Amino acid sequence: MTEQFDIVIVGGGVVGNAMALACRDLSVSVAQVEVKQVSVRTDFDYDVRTIGVAYTSRTLLKHLNVWPHVAPVAAPISSLHISDAGHFGKVRMHASEQGVDALGFVIEMPYLLQAMQNELQTQENLTTFCPYQVSALADGGDHTELTLDGEQGTKTIGAKLVIAADGQFSSLRQHEGIEAQHWDYEQTAIVANLSFSHADNRVAFERFTPEGPLAVLPLTSGRSGFIWTLENRYIDEFMAMSDDAFAQKVLDRFGYRFGEITRVGKRRGYPVALIKAEETVKPRFVVIGNAAQSIHPIAAQGMNLGLRDVAQLREHIKSALQSKADLGALDGLSTYSRARQRDRMSLVRGIDVAVRAFRNPLSGVIKARNSILLALELIPGAKSHLAKRAMGLQTPAPELCVED
Ligand SMILES: Cc1cc2nc3c(=O)[nH]c(=O)nc-3n(C[C@H](O)[C@H](O)[C@H](O)COP(=O)(O)OP(=O)(O)OC[C@H]3O[C@@H](n4cnc5c(N)ncnc54)[C@H](O)[C@@H]3O)c2cc1C
Repeated sequence: MTEQFDIVIVGGGVVGNAMALACRDLSVSVAQVEVKQVSVRTDFDYDVRTIGVAYTSRTLLKHLNVWPHVAPVAAPISSLHISDAGHFGKVRMHASEQGVDALGFVIEMPYLLQAMQNELQTQENLTTFCPYQVSALADGGDHTELTLDGEQGTKTIGAKLVIAADGQFSSLRQHEGIEAQHWDYEQTAIVANLSFSHADNRVAFERFTPEGPLAVLPLTSGRSGFIWTLENRYIDEFMAMSDDAFAQKVLDRFGYRFGEITRVGKRRGYPVALIKAEETVKPRFVVIGNAAQSIHPIAAQGMNLGLRDVAQLREHIKSALQSKADLGALDGLSTYSRARQRDRMSLVRGIDVAVRAFRNPLSGVIKARNSILLALELIPGAKSHLAKRAMGLQTPAPELCVED
């Protein structure tokens, strides 16, 4: 007998977990499949990956009862400064100007994953298959059959709707024959934590440098999160240099606004590419999160965009349940896909254009991009529009993105 579920979510990253939690109060049976054994460690010392959580994502995480558990370790971003090193353009955004307590937050990733895991463990309508890999999908008529491979053998489960949250190289997306645009930026993001002698842990900086954009982000622990997306030709040199030499390189570009760098954490490199699925839905199938779009980390928006996929998809599931429609019917899923189109495309395109403009050394392009930064700084409506995009505010907003 094939075990049947209304919804099977493939992937136990942040987006897959949020999707499972978003189904908690709906009358559906849910399965989640994750290939990696889940082991989240929050007993880290200095080196740990951090993530920027947009204002709207905080709202969503509140609704999922995740935020109360991570709020004490989330550093609020009161101001965001964007500048082009060595040029005149800069934009300064303040939470107070937008009438909010913070533009966003920065948090150590294990805290977020741990809080999600704790919530998932108490979810009554959820069955977890971990570690299991989805290796095949087959049309079962009124459902899809998924083949799961694990150490204990192979099993088959059925779903009215398969949600692929299986990351940027999504094998499910490929299995469904969905083409994806793939652009290798030939850049690698170096991520590390830093300590400054006089950090202001309320301000986030995004600074475009000749080697690539860097960001300095507040953390509650007194450290700063740091990410420098470097052109690949610099990577070997920057990874190999001593901590002191690396700190000096950072200071040469970032300046001494936070004083000296007193500690440099372990550096890790992440290759950067744009991967965008040409379609996000098929009958009984939808891709979300990085499986739908994996974007440059320059604006810290990849996870945030994926969480908004979750919020919108929940609306589709809810309305299909209310009207007793088939959860996997293509017309309903197409309505979901159209609802996500504007937010998704504007961020994917906007970030891609910004990355290309800020790595272009032509003097005309440098003048143009600095004029745009200046205009954004001086025209209140333009700055507010940019702040709202960074915060993830959109209209109409799905229920999970609206404060109670
Ligand atoms: C350097 C860097 C910095 C970033 N900073 C930010 C930031 O500050 N803010 C932000 O919003 N975003 C940021 N991002 C982007 C963010 O990390 C991603 O968008 C987000 O983590 C994607 O989550 P996901 O759940 O969609 O995918 P993933 O985290 O990739 O999860 C996919 C899961 O699916 C599982 N899986 C895959 N295939 C199968 C299968 N066949 N069967 C079962 N399981 C499977 C995998 O094991 C994995 O656990 C950053 C990215 C980078 C590279």
